[in-house]
Amino acid sequence: MLINWYPGHMAKTKRQLQEQLGRVDVVIELCDARLPYSSRNPDLEKMIVNQKVILVLNKADLADPNVTALWIKQFREKGLTVYPFSASSGKGKDLLAWIDEAAKEKVAKALEKGVRKVVRVMVAGVPNVGKSTLINRLHGSSIAKTGDTPGVTKSNQWVNISPYLQLMDSPGLLWPRLDDQTAARRLCYIGSVKDDVVDTAMLTINLLQELLAVRPGPVMERFKIRNGELQGEELLQEVCRGRGFLLKGGNYDYDRCCQVVLDEFRAGKCGRISLEVPEG
Ligand code: GDP
Repeated sequence: MLINWYPGHMAKTKRQLQEQLGRVDVVIELCDARLPYSSRNPDLEKMIVNQKVILVLNKADLADPNVTALWIKQFREKGLTVYPFSASSGKGKDLLAWIDEAAKEKVAKALEKGVRKVVRVMVAGVPNVGKSTLINRLHGSSIAKTGDTPGVTKSNQWVNISPYLQLMDSPGLLWPRLDDQTAARRLCYIGSVKDDVVDTAMLTINLLQELLAVRPGPVMERFKIRNGELQGEELLQEVCRGRGFLLKGGNYDYDRCCQVVLDEFRAGKCGRISLEVPEG
């Protein structure tokens, strides 16, 4: 389920996250590898006090690997611990190794006092970046339900991954970066922000234009666009003609066209595309 981020939702979700953060040693922060800027939460960093953060660029299977490598380099230069990952197909044991590494100082300190510490981990991210999929990957079964609801207290129980590793059973929901219009639009493309609050035709036109700028060949082929210079409604009409989204009487079926373009992009049908490259 996706969300309308009213201020009340945002405040409630923030309080909930603060409470959750106080109970963990390690935060796995998930963002979408196709949008590493737009899909990160603007406030999480400020809320981290005593926890180690592992930034995971998830859905790396959908992003351009060369661009992902540039992001990884830039984040590491800034001192962040970061890895590319695909929660839907990646190895749980990689995640476990990253957690061990992140927690090793706290574990060693506790050992000096003769205590074998239980490390507590939370997975956090904006909607639809793969939090539940990653929790299930770590746990090895389906404990987390996919979908998010803001401001609803979930069970927040601990799941034992090993005798010394516990995972919060429900994800830490983060609110998206909505102050930046470009970021907000891109979050709609990936299904992180409800797209029924925006003009779907405009959203689809914007997406097609961004995709054509990044990878014209595969995108033109997928959506049967013969003229990549077309803009606005003409671009949508070209896709309708090419893919046969026509109504009786020859009118364009914009609704179906928009749904198919958004669905196929979200499913990676246009190939591996990154919509953001690091600056500098
Ligand atoms: P959440 O809202 O953050 O908990 O996200 P979900 O775990 O519900 O995942 C949202 C959608 O993304 C689902 O359809 C998942 O199957 C899909 N998904 C999650 N991780 C990956 C990934 O690494 N690669 C791809 N291609 N799809 C993924």
